Amino acid sequence: MTKLLGVIGDPIAHSLSPVIHNGWLRDMGFNAVYEAMQVPEGEFQNALKTLENRDCLGINITLPHKANALRCASEASDTAQRIGAANTLTFRGGNTWRADNTDVPGFIKALGALDPDRDRAVVLGAGGSARAIVHALSVHGIELTILNRTVSKAEALAHDLGARGTKADDIDQYKDYLESATIVINTTSMGYGGNSLELPIGNNRTFFDISYGKISAPQLEHAAARGWQVKDGLTMLVAQAAFSFEIWFGEMPDLAAGLNRCRAALRATS
Ligand code: NDP
Repeated sequence: MTKLLGVIGDPIAHSLSPVIHNGWLRDMGFNAVYEAMQVPEGEFQNALKTLENRDCLGINITLPHKANALRCASEASDTAQRIGAANTLTFRGGNTWRADNTDVPGFIKALGALDPDRDRAVVLGAGGSARAIVHALSVHGIELTILNRTVSKAEALAHDLGARGTKADDIDQYKDYLESATIVINTTSMGYGGNSLELPIGNNRTFFDISYGKISAPQLEHAAARGWQVKDGLTMLVAQAAFSFEIWFGEMPDLAAGLNRCRAALRATS
């Protein structure tokens, strides 16, 4: 019997998750199919009920359902509980689901080696994705500043999930903080409006924009031209998918193959 997997969100049409997961399912010979499912806010619980009757193994969850996914689960990882959001549900039979958050290990995998004695991070933005990132950096003992347009949200995030000493300020002050940072992570959605930040000289420091494709391209081109080591969000997207896949199948898939398929899919649609 072919098992069902998928991603639930709204909007969802442009999700790369089916490309990533169906590629791995084919490569590794698992009898399952991964679908994108558009589910409006307020309909999440009904969608779970439907999936419980459809040989569903598990699902990924994206905007706007991540907090609701955690609430609907009967069991949850410590990380998902701490962040207050789940991006992975695994069906446990009956009407029970287990919640995990693979955005955290996905982000760390994409970022690469961290050194708490050397690294100082600036997180730009304080929305849903910043919660997982602030938690991940705090757990790794990284000194951290959160900068956001709405300062009260940065302060609340620093209080909720930052380590002791995590600072919060207005994103307009970013130049003051970037000078001493070794890693800058842009989690804002400013790229959707065609906005980007003018950066100081990078000297090989890391600028990681968790958006990808056309949204992050102008910011990353500018960062690279100023001498930053740049990363886009595709690596994080593929890594969080890989950790979900491992939860469902007990095996880690090939990250490079997933990344290549995503880049090919983006090229084909640009
Ligand atoms: P949210 O809507 O939760 O947060 C958006 C953040 O961007 C807020 O901090 C908001 O500030 C800030 N912002 C929006 N517009 C501007 C602007 N013009 N200037 C300054 N700040 C701005 O979004 P998410 O955190 O869920 O997602 C953010 C981005 O990350 C999206 O592009 C998304 O695609 C990407 N993403 C990538 C993932 C990956 O795996 N690679 C995973 C999840 C998200 P304020 O609080 O003041 O409104």
